[in-house]
Formats: sequence, structure tokens, C-alpha cells
Amino acid sequence: MEWHFLLPAIKSIKLLDQKIVACTKCPRLVEWREEVAVVKRKAYENEKYWGKPVPGFGPDNARIVIVGLAPGAHGANRTGRIFTGDSSGDWLYKALHKNGLASIPTSTSANDGQKLIDTRITCAVRCAPPDNKPSTEEKSQCSDYLINEIELLMPTARTFVALGSFAWSAIIKSLRALDNQIPTPTPKFGHGESFTFVGSDGVKRLVLGSYHPSQQNTFTGKLTEPMLNSVFKKAKSFK
Ligand code: SF4
Repeated sequence: MEWHFLLPAIKSIKLLDQKIVACTKCPRLVEWREEVAVVKRKAYENEKYWGKPVPGFGPDNARIVIVGLAPGAHGANRTGRIFTGDSSGDWLYKALHKNGLASIPTSTSANDGQKLIDTRITCAVRCAPPDNKPSTEEKSQCSDYLINEIELLMPTARTFVALGSFAWSAIIKSLRALDNQIPTPTPKFGHGESFTFVGSDGVKRLVLGSYHPSQQNTFTGKLTEPMLNSVFKKAKSFK
């Protein structure tokens, strides 16, 4: 089933970010993100958790758009910045920095001085879900925000990087909802898989797949640093 873009589109990234942060559409996720922010993990018991939806991070005229699944309960749901304060973020920002796309190789807090270069990181679901598993309905509820964000980034976006198979599907569905012609049959996700498409504005763009830098993938060696680096090297070199 195709997604349809039902929300009246918000006209700037800044306003969209504000709208996302104030969202309470999914009762289960609102309860979970707020409960985690009160109960906390012992290592962070003296910190004030963010406990709200997490918007994208990076310039509103980015060439590279990276899409993950959802905030980590004790990462972005704690720090308020996507992929910040957990192991996934350590891997991601290290690779971005190595490729000249992040100002520093670490991402520990929202005020650590990190600046993304030509790159914006966002996610398909904006609230931390229990077990990192949003329901089908929650994914659907949140989908308009990604569509709106991609719409606003399209004038400069040339490469989309999907971290994991759900992000891959969310990017494709968002691009289709915005009337871009994606190849059929729908390209399948895999690490290093890619396809190009010509947007509704006539501009050629690239979509790249990467395994998600989750602990499940990095601890087991399914995703290595060279594998992640090569994705961003390709993303950066696409013209
Ligand atoms: S997951 Fe998305 S739609 Fe649901 S409450 Fe969070 S921001 Fe709103």
C-alpha cells in the first residue's frame, strides 16, 4: 500500500522540528519515553533526560540525508539529539568525521560542539520505542514527518543513506509519496546496495543502504568500521 502525504506540509525545517518535539500522537510511545526519562539507567541517574520526540540534526540545506529507525532509550531520548550518547552514535559520528562530514569524531551531548557538514541525520520514528520496536501503527503515525522533512531537503539533497531495512523502506515510501519515480520492482535493502533515481525536479539522486550501527551488528562483526566508512565515502563522492 502506498503512503499518502496527508498533513499540510510545514514550510521550514525549524518549524517542523518544533512540531515534532511537541507531538503526542502515539500513547504507548509517549508513556514509554517519559517513563524511561524518570526511571533512567543507573549510569545516568544524575542527568535530566530529554524524554520527548527527537527531531533531525544538521543543516537544512544538506546534500546527504541519513535516516535511522528511532531514538535510543538512553541515547537520543536522554540527550535530545539523534544518535547522541550511545554506542550507535559513537560508530556513526566516527565514520562521518573520518569522511569530513562531522566536525568531531564523537557525539556525547547536545552541547558538545558537534557540527554536521553538508549532512543531516534523521529517523523514521521520532520517539524511543520499547525494545527498539515501534508498532506498524506507530511507524505509520510518524511517517508524515519524514516525508515533510525530505520534501524540505529535496532542493539540496543528492544522497540518502538508509541505516537498516526499515529506514530503506521509509525513504522509498517517502520519495514515492513526493512523486519521485523509484525503480520497480522496489530495490531490496542490503549493506552496500544502492540505486539512483531521477527526482520529480529532473535531478539524479542516490539511495544507499547500510547495516544499522546497532550494538547487535557492531558487537557481532556484521558491521565493521571499514564497511561503514565505505558507505559514507560513496555518499560523499556522488555528484
Ligand atoms: S512516534 Fe512520531 S507520531 Fe508518534 S508520538 Fe512520537 S513523534 Fe508523534
